[in-house]
Amino acid sequence: MQKRRVTRQIRVGDDRTGIVRIGGDAPVSVQTMTAGYTYDVDRCVAEIHKLTAAGADIVRVAVPEKKDTAALPEILAQTTVPIVADVHFHFQRALEAVEAGVHKIRLNPGNISDRSQVVEVIRACQAANAGKGIPIRVGVNEGSIIERKDKQKRAKELGAFFSDHKHGYLLAIMIAKLEEYLDIFYEEDFYDVCISAKSMDATIVIDAYTEISKRFDHPLHLGVTHAGPKETGCIRSVVALGTLLANGIGDTIRISYASDPVYEVEDGLELLWSLGLRERKGAELIACPTCGRIQVDLFTLTQGVRKTLAEHIDVPMKVAVMGCVVNGPGEAEGADVAVFAGDRKGIIYVQGERVATVPESEILDRLLVECRSFQAKVLAGEARLGEKKVDIVPPDPIGELGSGWEKMAAARLTVEGQ
Ligand code: SF4
Repeated sequence: MQKRRVTRQIRVGDDRTGIVRIGGDAPVSVQTMTAGYTYDVDRCVAEIHKLTAAGADIVRVAVPEKKDTAALPEILAQTTVPIVADVHFHFQRALEAVEAGVHKIRLNPGNISDRSQVVEVIRACQAANAGKGIPIRVGVNEGSIIERKDKQKRAKELGAFFSDHKHGYLLAIMIAKLEEYLDIFYEEDFYDVCISAKSMDATIVIDAYTEISKRFDHPLHLGVTHAGPKETGCIRSVVALGTLLANGIGDTIRISYASDPVYEVEDGLELLWSLGLRERKGAELIACPTCGRIQVDLFTLTQGVRKTLAEHIDVPMKVAVMGCVVNGPGEAEGADVAVFAGDRKGIIYVQGERVATVPESEILDRLLVECRSFQAKVLAGEARLGEKKVDIVPPDPIGELGSGWEKMAAARLTVEGQ
């Protein structure tokens, strides 16, 4: 992991929602966007509540029509998370959203480029929030970069930096577009700007943000756009965003899926937790992939444990669900609560201490009992996370657990006895 690159800091939110800081020393935040119509107030509010409950720090809403910005005051009054208005094509929507009290505006230089219109939005944002101002994200997307009069000239100038680069021409255009657009903001003495430069291609995303981070000190909003459904978009997003974050680049992220946006929040948080960029909320589940030694239905058990932990456990304890004695003791030693399975049964450990051996049908319930009891002890200050007390002595893989080793040995005897 590279040290995080220091950027300017912007603040999103108000006294009612709380302030989310982006950039500087602030933790990397997770954003998402509602999938429904903003003008449908009740549904929009319900979706924002759902995304907030999933852990979103900031939620963006689309405002393509006047009826969408007209709905914003009611939406803002009923929600508790900073709201960003996503504006394309119509700068009036930005002015209306600011007037309604949104906490941040997103502009796309590809479709709002008229200088006087951009200046009007900047001035409205400067005056908003009782004169404290609200920030603006400048989001260039590969798909909506527009032609500029001297595009060829600028591309040639900047292109020299990227002459040996696979995406050199595109990077040159993206950077030229950002420079040109940000000049308008600087001339208005407006610096509360966040930048994004998204593409559907993970390698372009990595290259674009890497180059942008060398040239601008504004906080960066990372994302892969049009990444597809969760099943494939997850890999594309995690490759791009994970690479950038591990290189110290990125201040806020949005994973985009053609799926329920709750998944965007869950996967964004898991990415940040995995990289140690955010303090984990709730349990961390460790589970083996299973193999020919397995003798319990570990896939069903693991899904049950995942659901149960999400519902009942708030402290960041490590919980291991392992299929057999081969890797079970090792993982159980590192986990706060662990089970490893044998022949239709499970042995349960709490911080290395063996507490129970139960039949397969009781593993889930007993594991939850132990997790809740351990959580209560942590909260009461009677136990500390990650503190192993006892070295595990692995049980006899054949005698006590009757694991796959036993089957393998029996099979060998049969073959030899033929
Ligand atoms: S823990 Fe056991 S069952 Fe799970 S993958 Fe490892 S060897 Fe296979």
